[in-house]
Amino acid sequence: MKPQRISSELLEVKKAQDIIFSNFSKLDSTEVSLIDAQNFVLSKDILAPFDLPEKDNSAMDGFAVQHKDIVEEKITELEVIGRVGAENRAEISLGKGQAIRIMTGGEIPKGSDCVVPFENTNSGPMRGIDYPKKVTINEAVNLGDNIRKSGLDYKKGSLVLKAGTLLNPPALGVIASFGINKLSVIRKPIISVISTGNEVVMPGDDRKPGQIYDSNSFIISSAVKEAGGDVKLLDITGDRKEDIEAAISSCKESDLVISIGGVSKGDFDLIKDVLSEKGEINFWGINMKPGKPLTFGSLDLEDNNVFQLGLPGNPVSAYVCFELFVRPIILKMMGVNEIMRKKIKARITEDITNHDGRRMYVRVRIIEKKNEYIAEIYKNQNSNILSSLVFADGLAICPEDCKVVKSGDELEVLLLRG
Ligand code: AMP
Ligand code: MG
Repeated sequence: MKPQRISSELLEVKKAQDIIFSNFSKLDSTEVSLIDAQNFVLSKDILAPFDLPEKDNSAMDGFAVQHKDIVEEKITELEVIGRVGAENRAEISLGKGQAIRIMTGGEIPKGSDCVVPFENTNSGPMRGIDYPKKVTINEAVNLGDNIRKSGLDYKKGSLVLKAGTLLNPPALGVIASFGINKLSVIRKPIISVISTGNEVVMPGDDRKPGQIYDSNSFIISSAVKEAGGDVKLLDITGDRKEDIEAAISSCKESDLVISIGGVSKGDFDLIKDVLSEKGEINFWGINMKPGKPLTFGSLDLEDNNVFQLGLPGNPVSAYVCFELFVRPIILKMMGVNEIMRKKIKARITEDITNHDGRRMYVRVRIIEKKNEYIAEIYKNQNSNILSSLVFADGLAICPEDCKVVKSGDELEVLLLRG
């Protein structure tokens, strides 16, 4: 990649996204077992190897009959000549005045053109091997009723799932129903996550006065997993240059290294120093709030080129930057076609004032009212306020050039879920 060092002026969000996204592409494919395939993305189309359902079969427990017998001939009592369970093939064919007991999923016998459910007869479930040899039809059904036709779901040879499909529960179910248990998928990106800061301590560890627990590692690594990436969570580094260097050097197998903290202008913000020694890195101020400082570039780790993204340390800033810059590239590497979250329009519940001409991402909760969405604005929008993240399911976007947005006005909201 060619570094584009932007110094004093702030970079627009869209421009930063374009630069970052353009450096990533779909990873290579691998094979996984069906049982492990959840949240992978298919790398090849899947075509139906056979009709689904394979055979015409019954949608109800009841009796397979000939429609003309019960409607035209008005025969009410039929001779029951056999029984077909869901697992059974229908070996016998049906003649005039005859019926076959049939269970849901059982193959429709030759000669039958509708199924009369138990409810419409004088019969019901029978345990054991015996069953009455006669049945009375109390109420007829239409021709073809309760028969699930073969190929109704998928025709042999038709496209079942396209390459690029995310393997969610329904997709896995349909693949399973074709008996396929090995799948060609895009391998998952390996994302290393490194929290920095002398003040930051792992939950469960002892703390010295003034130290805080590491929330970022958990926000970011779980967000990576939710997006479908594999996380390599490293130990917190503190602010010593050698420690940060050692941590970064251990990431040569990763597709992306995310560092958190140490990218602002503080005395101990050393990430920039380390990164510029290790590769080609841009340090950006992004014209957004929260989340101004960001680094992006590639590291040269023992001849492996590894991409790096440095998020700011304040948890809200880190998370908003993750949503805007990291999640889409994880999805892009995974081969997902639609990498951006959905946006809706919603009416805000309070005035928003934009003091410094940055693009604001305001934490809101979406409420659906009649035919419109309301975006309830969280009371405290500071970048260290974790409760704003817990509250929010969307980010209302106040554009750079909007000084005030009035309560009741509509804004675009980037949805954080779904
Ligand atoms: P920095 O970007 O390193 O200057 O950090 C900005 C703010 O975020 C400081 O108040 C840090 O204490 C806080 N911070 C940095 N890293 C973390 C973390 N992993 N978890 C929680 N807060 C953090
Ligand atoms: Mg720090």
